[in-house]
Parts: sequence; structure tokens; C-alpha cells
Amino acid sequence: MTANDSNFDQGSLLEYNGEMYKYLGNGWRATGEGYGWRMSKDLYFRCAGCGYLMNGNPQENDNCPCNKLYKDSDWGRFGSTLGGDAIAVYEKCQPEGALSK
Ligand SMILES: [Zn+2]
Repeated sequence: MTANDSNFDQGSLLEYNGEMYKYLGNGWRATGEGYGWRMSKDLYFRCAGCGYLMNGNPQENDNCPCNKLYKDSDWGRFGSTLGGDAIAVYEKCQPEGALSK
């Protein structure tokens, strides 16, 4: 395997509530290094069942409208009843200007 930063697909953008989000991948591997979900306010998780985009803030509880995607900060639980690979991971795009070099 060679180090390769170019496997990021810049075309994978999602518009949600007027904001743009960048697709990082599916499952916990897309959230960063280390094993398991890395929860962060900078990350968003999309339910494969209803398309709800959930913020990854570890301090907040949340459930998507179809109840397949859940986040329980009290118990440190996060996941989807469809399985972790059904969760698409996004991060918010920076406002215009930050993207240009
Ligand atoms: Zn859902």
C-alpha cells in the first residue's frame, strides 16, 4: 500500500438544509484514526433509512425520524439498526473562501 491522499472524492457533496457537506465514507472507519466511532461536533452522520443528518456532538442525544439512527450520550451509544456500514459520514464544508487556496 502506498500513501495516497487523493482517494478523497471531491464530487461527493450533500446539500442539507442549505448547507453543504462533504462525504467522507461509510462506517466508523470514515470518522478518523483509531477503532470505533470518533464522535465530534464537526462530523455528521446520515441515516440510510430516512436521510436525516445527525450531528456527531458527543454531548447530545439524538434520534432520526425513522429511529434507525440513534445517539445516546448518557450511555455512549451510537449506531444504526441497519448496521454501522449503513451510516454515511459527512463533515460540513467550510464557507466560501476556505476551499480556495
Ligand atoms: Zn432514519
